Amino acid sequence: IFITFEGPDGAGKTTQLRMLADDLKKLGHDVLVTREPGGTAISDLIRSIILDPAHKEMVDQAEVLLYAASRAQHVHQLILPALKAGRIVLCDRFIDASVAYQAYGLGIEVDIVKEISRYASSGLEATRTYILDVPVEVSMARLQGRASASGTNAQQLDRIEQKHVDYHSRVRAGFHQIAADHPERVRVVNANRSEMEIATEIWEDCNRLLEE
Ligand code: C5P
Ligand code: MG
Repeated sequence: IFITFEGPDGAGKTTQLRMLADDLKKLGHDVLVTREPGGTAISDLIRSIILDPAHKEMVDQAEVLLYAASRAQHVHQLILPALKAGRIVLCDRFIDASVAYQAYGLGIEVDIVKEISRYASSGLEATRTYILDVPVEVSMARLQGRASASGTNAQQLDRIEQKHVDYHSRVRAGFHQIAADHPERVRVVNANRSEMEIATEIWEDCNRLLEE
């Protein structure tokens, strides 16, 4: 079973992923927790290129292909072997992030991004995807809080996080479109609630999934 978490930065993906992993482990499941971009040494190197705020000159095509390269290594080196071994894989972001951020956010054709992603992942798709949904003002405010708590100011934010509110609004609308296009796989979870409420909703859905 391959479960992915999507949504804006500051929606609480990482926290929810960890809570779900802990609950699954308590039931005796073998769980792999990983993230995109990243998850392997090569993928993490690519991640640092993509997110470095100094690389203002990065063109959209390079951004799409770097995410794809990071994903290709991650899928083949880590995710597919884990799934083959019967483990439950929980991944922080996957192809839907590319469709939301690069296609809907940057304005690249959705079919191009999907096709490149399909090639990179050899067609691997998530069994279930949770989109943690919060209004753009909420996620951006949480990010600003995170940045100032960790020291200085917006400079702490990565290259994508620093983008304009209009960009982040397109990304959120993109996630809603993805959910509408894939009602079987995708669940939109209202993440503008307490951690426990969100975790409970995800846990109940995930249990139904395990029983199938
Ligand atoms: O979720 P995480 O904070 O690790 O993501 C790193 C950054 O990469 C975020 O700013 C996220 O918005 C961005 N991202 C992206 N396109 C993807 C995946 C992540 O713009 N396909
Ligand atoms: Mg982030």
